[in-house]
Amino acid sequence: MINIALIAHDGKKAEMVSFILNNKTFLENSTLYATGTTGGKIQQEGFEVKKLLSGPLGGDAQIATMVALGEIDLVIFFRDPLDKHPHEPDVQMLMRQCDVHNVPLATNPKGAHYLLRGIRDYLKQK
Ligand code: PGA
Repeated sequence: MINIALIAHDGKKAEMVSFILNNKTFLENSTLYATGTTGGKIQQEGFEVKKLLSGPLGGDAQIATMVALGEIDLVIFFRDPLDKHPHEPDVQMLMRQCDVHNVPLATNPKGAHYLLRGIRDYLKQK
């Protein structure tokens, strides 16, 4: 089971819902973590997900900590580049922690699509 963190800014939550529905089987066999509001949307679709704080209240910082502790294998973070976010420093910290600890990060749906595809193939070969 791999541990996946899912986060979507408000303008990208609909795309996150389509993404999880398109990758249902794989994600249902993973352990999912999400920031609060994103997690609520994921739960509404019937997935089991461990919800953290909402992003602006520290959810991204919590996920960054989990990345630093080696508790997350993959981060999917659909960022909205056309909106302002009060918690931008936390977002930067999360991305930095992914790079520090060499944890794969996708920040848009197409990147996430190819990343999951790659991981699926990699796990099949193991
Ligand atoms: P949310 O947080 O899932 O609680 O909306 C996401 C974010 O904005 O970082």
